[in-house]
Amino acid sequence: MSLGRALVFLVVAVLLAGSVPVGLALDRRLAAALEEKAAADLALARVLLTDRLASSADMRMMHAKDVAATPALAAALLAGDTVEAARVTADAPRGALELPVLVDSEGRSRLGPQPAATLVERTRAGEMPVVVVSEPGSVRMVALAPVHAEGRFLGAAGVVSAFDATEAAALSGLTRADVVVLDGDGAPAASTLDEAGLGGLLDAARTIGAGEASRIERDGRRWLLASAPIADGAASVLFLRDLDRELAVVPDLRRVALVSMAVALVVALLLGMLVAARLAGPVRALARAADRVAAGDLDAPLARAGVSEVAHVADAFDVMRQRLAARLRDLERANRELEDRQERLVALQAELLQRDRREAAGRLLTQLAHEVRNPVASVRNCLELLRRRVQEDPEAREIADLAIDELLRMHELAERMMDLDRPRDDGASECAPLEVCRHVARLAGTAADEGDGVRVEVSGDETVRAAIAPDALKQVLLNLVRNAREAMRQGGRIDLRVEAVEDRVRVQVLDTGPGIDANVLPRVFDPFFTTKADVRGVGLGLFTAEGLVRAAGGRLDATNRTDGPGARFDVELPRAGVAVEAA
Ligand code: ADP
Repeated sequence: MSLGRALVFLVVAVLLAGSVPVGLALDRRLAAALEEKAAADLALARVLLTDRLASSADMRMMHAKDVAATPALAAALLAGDTVEAARVTADAPRGALELPVLVDSEGRSRLGPQPAATLVERTRAGEMPVVVVSEPGSVRMVALAPVHAEGRFLGAAGVVSAFDATEAAALSGLTRADVVVLDGDGAPAASTLDEAGLGGLLDAARTIGAGEASRIERDGRRWLLASAPIADGAASVLFLRDLDRELAVVPDLRRVALVSMAVALVVALLLGMLVAARLAGPVRALARAADRVAAGDLDAPLARAGVSEVAHVADAFDVMRQRLAARLRDLERANRELEDRQERLVALQAELLQRDRREAAGRLLTQLAHEVRNPVASVRNCLELLRRRVQEDPEAREIADLAIDELLRMHELAERMMDLDRPRDDGASECAPLEVCRHVARLAGTAADEGDGVRVEVSGDETVRAAIAPDALKQVLLNLVRNAREAMRQGGRIDLRVEAVEDRVRVQVLDTGPGIDANVLPRVFDPFFTTKADVRGVGLGLFTAEGLVRAAGGRLDATNRTDGPGARFDVELPRAGVAVEAA
């Protein structure tokens, strides 16, 4: 699993683990709190009812007194005109929901319902009673006040108000509960619920006593009930709260909570993805860089991480990478040096081998020349003798001449072979190469007079001196110039250049001939190697020259010119007066 996904998964898991139990607990707490609140409201409803009854009784009494004190009423009763008395009572001002009541001095009702005899007696006795009267199906409040005139009790007048649907609705508005007014038998006198709603609620209500609110369930609905007595149990009021309606807000709240949770989840997911991207991005870049290091790329860019721990790892990785790169560079350099050394060693070995071979060949040649020279001289003397003897025979003389010529060639060859070993000067061991070059050019110039169109040019440093006998250098350069001339049958130019290179002196011999074939080049210094088919070539010129240069502690190299056609020979010699390293 990738780091990014793990982080997002973690965020979601934490959010769900945290919010689901909290959501459930809140749901329960909310339902319980709402139920508690409803119960508290019901308890308050009973107090409100008591207050309302008290103030209602006071108001009724006040209205009863006002009606009884109407002067026309007393006059009508005194005159025995009960019809007039009833009219006056009916017209007297009173409360909106009140009905007028009038009884005569005998206690008979002249207007409104018939009050109980005890109530009339109490009025006659001077009391001004306010009582709640319960009859089957109705509950009323009656207030009576006596009507006196000329010291006589003429009757009683007052008001009656019913605990009807209006009163029940007013109470319901005050207490925020459904209200059922019950008569003394427990039958409903007024209610804010319809009959179907009341249903079996009343049976259940009978089982609960006055006091705390009780929870009941009827027809699949839950109710909270509280009962309050009126006028010492003459009637009662039932307060009801529909719990299903109260708790209807809970699913709404639950929905809101779910939506909020979903929004929070989405926000958390986005944030989680953002954090994951910020965290996982640099880690992924680090992993990619590690892969590229494994593939040999040590310069892959590293993204700057915002998370300090990851940035620390990236820095450490970078340092490690740089060190690795430095080590690899060291290793490569060491490898290259080793290869160079190996190449130089192989070249040196080849050169040593060739040098040994040439030295051995040189020794063999001079020895052979020594051995051949004397017998050749003796045979030549013999042939000279024979030639004199056969003076008369032209054919024999011609054969003798031929043999003598061949012996002369052999003698010359032996002499040239011995050049290698012969001391060349009177002890001089250094010279000015430019001077020797000029001398060789003069000699060559004499040859140039032969008309082969070859020009010899000399240039370079006059002061520089080389550690070689002038005679030896002259022979070397004569050989090289002769070869160059022979290579340029159609004419051309030979350059002799002298220059000092550090502790060495270099004499270059450059021509404008065809140059040397690549397959010929490695063999030009071999003894008896020649490409000249005519008699002139015996293949000892370069062999001898290389031997002379080597004997002086220098080296002779053959190559082709890079600035145009032609061969180039480099004679490198130690500088006179400078300590020479062992080659
Ligand atoms: P030789 O001159 O008798 O052939 P060298 O030893 O002097 O013997 O030369 C060997 C060979 O090197 C020559 O035969 C020729 O092929 C080649 N060579 C030497 N100098 C030159 C040059 N300047 N241009 C072309 N080839 C050359």
